[in-house]
Amino acid sequence: MNTFTSQELIDLEEKYGAHNYHPIPVVLDKGKEAKVWDIEGKEYFDFLSAYSAVNQGHCHPRIVNKAKEQLEKLTLTSRAFYNSELGKYEQYVTQLFGFDKLLPMNSGAEAVETALKIARKWGYEVKQIPNDEAIIVVCDGNFHGRTTTIISFSNDEEARKNFNPYTKGFISVEYGNHDALAEVFATHGDKICGFLVEPIQGEAGVYVPPAGYLKACETLCKEHNVLFIADEIQTGIARTGKMLAIDYEEVEASMLILGKALSGGVYPVSAVLANDDVMNVIKPGQHGSTYGGNPLACAIAQEALQVVLDENLAEKAFELGNFFRDEMQKMVDEFALFKAIRGKGLLNALLINDTPESETAWNFCVALAKNGLLAKPTHGNIIRFAPPLVITKDQLIECIEIIRKTAQNFK
Ligand SMILES: *Cc1c(COP(=O)(O)O)cnc(C)c1O
Repeated sequence: MNTFTSQELIDLEEKYGAHNYHPIPVVLDKGKEAKVWDIEGKEYFDFLSAYSAVNQGHCHPRIVNKAKEQLEKLTLTSRAFYNSELGKYEQYVTQLFGFDKLLPMNSGAEAVETALKIARKWGYEVKQIPNDEAIIVVCDGNFHGRTTTIISFSNDEEARKNFNPYTKGFISVEYGNHDALAEVFATHGDKICGFLVEPIQGEAGVYVPPAGYLKACETLCKEHNVLFIADEIQTGIARTGKMLAIDYEEVEASMLILGKALSGGVYPVSAVLANDDVMNVIKPGQHGSTYGGNPLACAIAQEALQVVLDENLAEKAFELGNFFRDEMQKMVDEFALFKAIRGKGLLNALLINDTPESETAWNFCVALAKNGLLAKPTHGNIIRFAPPLVITKDQLIECIEIIRKTAQNFK
């Protein structure tokens, strides 16, 4: 029996936890597929999916069972020794995504850091960039995590202010504009080792770049011998209606960064994938992580990926996404409160018709929560809608009704 109320648990977090998040005031206690329940037993549709980590749905029985099996057998050895899961997992993932090698990490930010380190090392050792001069190009509005280096090249003042001094060696260009990238490459191409990009900018507010942008960037990278580094931590693993968002333009990344749904929300697992010409710049002792590649993580992630394939989640996300945007577009036309709906697959954003500083999106999310649907505003007045990909069409229709009802009664 649970003896706490939601308010008591919120108070505990307020008092004893660092205030580095501003949660919607619900206390979740249980999850199954596309739904979660709070401590009082109220049911919600989860329209955030832990920032797309739970694409496979909450507590997917196959992933949970795999975790239980492995938990009772072996969890952590460190990479001081080989373990009986890592090799099989690496073979599985590299074959699935078409790369020679995988480097296992835990959080998304760590995997991004890993890719940046590999890119720089490749820049000096293979591209022969003069020492200390390597540049990595990033995009305005990017979100790649929270480490000191990653926030150094963010434009989000909230994320970077007073965390300085910042890491050098990054140039930021306009997102979605391949001419801007061409220009930097023309000026600094011989010193640029990597171009780091999100195929859709998730945190920034689900910005979908113009069609052909990613392909044009890939071509520019090839022309200038620059590594194309795709951060698919949020867009990957079927979220946008393909296994990877870069698959829409048949882009082949030099490095692919995965996280979040790689483990279906069961355990933190991230990875960097690359071919030998890039990955082999890393030698023993030059990079690592105590938990990276542990047998529990490997068993969970392999099962989580297999679930995505077996349940055709990419196709599902593609079809349900088209349906969802069509229905939402009708609401955008109907309600002055809404400005636009955009996205790909089941990664979508509803733009609220108000100033970026106003509280309207937040208040609308609180109203949605009261009506049984959980979503969270991202930058400005933008609400991300990203349910688990296992949501059924009937459930999605129910959710659209909740959004409509909430809009009708919203003041
Ligand atoms: C969430 C996210 C990250 C960071 O992942 P963490 O696991 O939170 O460190 C990096 N890049 C993108 C695109 C993300 O959405």
